[in-house]
Amino acid sequence: MSSNAVSGSTQVAAVIGSPVRHSLSPVIHNAAFRAAGLDWVYVALEVGAARAAEAFAGIRALGLAGVSVTTPHKDAAFAAVDEVSVSAQAMNAVNCIHRVGDRLLGYNTDGDGFVDSLRADAEFDPAGHSVAVVGAGGAARSIIEALGRAGAARVVVVNRTLLRAQQAASLAGGCGVVGTLDDLAECDVVVNATSVGLGSSELSIPVAALRSSHLIADVVYHPIETALLRAAESAGARTLDGLGMLVHQAARQFTIWTGVTAPVAEMRRAAEAALAQRR
Ligand code: NDP
Repeated sequence: MSSNAVSGSTQVAAVIGSPVRHSLSPVIHNAAFRAAGLDWVYVALEVGAARAAEAFAGIRALGLAGVSVTTPHKDAAFAAVDEVSVSAQAMNAVNCIHRVGDRLLGYNTDGDGFVDSLRADAEFDPAGHSVAVVGAGGAARSIIEALGRAGAARVVVVNRTLLRAQQAASLAGGCGVVGTLDDLAECDVVVNATSVGLGSSELSIPVAALRSSHLIADVVYHPIETALLRAAESAGARTLDGLGMLVHQAARQFTIWTGVTAPVAEMRRAAEAALAQRR
C-alpha cells in the first residue's frame, strides 16, 4: 500500500485525547505508514475526560492496533493497561499503547524521543554531560527521566515552582539536582521544557544566560524556530528544535506497533509541511 487506501484488512491506529483536532500525529503517522508501504491508517479520536475508561476498553473491543495517548488521558492510560515499560512506570503515565491480542502494553516515548532527537538531529550523546532542563511539567519530567537512563552526568532542573522542580529532579536517579538560572553557565545542554514561547516571542531563559558553548534545545515546536532558538543562534550557540522530539517519539511508537524501522525523514517532512500550512 502506498496511498493509505483503506480496505477491510487495514490496521487502525489512533490518538486519543482532548483537544485532539490540532494534533500533528495523524499527519506524521500516516506519512510513515505510506513510506513503509504498510496497510495501516491513523485517526484522531476526541475523547473527553469522563469517557477515558470506555475508550480504553474499546481498544480491545474494536481491535485497534496501536494508540497514542495525549492530554488529559496519560494518567488514566497508565491505570488501564496490563503492563508498562520502564519509562511509563517511572512517569506513572502512558503515551503509547500497543494491543497484543487482548493485552494492552503501555509505553512512554516522549523522553526517549527527546534523547533520540539529541543524538540523531544534534549528533550529541548526553552520556557523561551536564544538562539543564528548565521546566518541571509533563514534557520536562519525561526528558529528565530519559536523560538519567541515557547516562547524563548531571541533570539540573530549574523551575518556577520549587516543589515541582524537586519532584522532577528525583526522576533522573542520582544525577538529578535542583538549580537556578545561574547554573546554566556550567551546563553543556540547556533545554526549554516550559510552555513559554508557544506561539509567542517570550523567553523562559534570559539572553544573558546563553553561551556560545551551549547546545540550546526547545520543546516548543510552534513556531519551529522559536524566539529562544533565534536568541541562541545570535549568541553563537548550537540549537535543536522541538519538532525533532515530536517526530522521534512518534517514530518509537511506530516501531513498537509495527516492528518496522521508522522512516524518520519522511515523518519530519510531513510534520514540517503541516506546520507550514498553519502559519
Ligand atoms: P505543563 O503544563 O505540564 O508544564 C508547563 C511547565 O512550564 C511548568 O514547568 C511550568 O512551571 C512552566 N511554565 C509555564 N508558564 C511559565 C512561565 N510564564 N514562566 C516560567 N515557567 C512557566 O506542560 P507540558 O510539560 O505538557 O508542555 C510544555 C511544552 O512542551 C508545551 O509547549 C508543549 O506543547 C511542549 N511539548 C512538546 C513536545 C514535543 O514532542 N516537542 C511533547 C510534549 C510537550 P510551573 O511548574 O511553575 O507551573
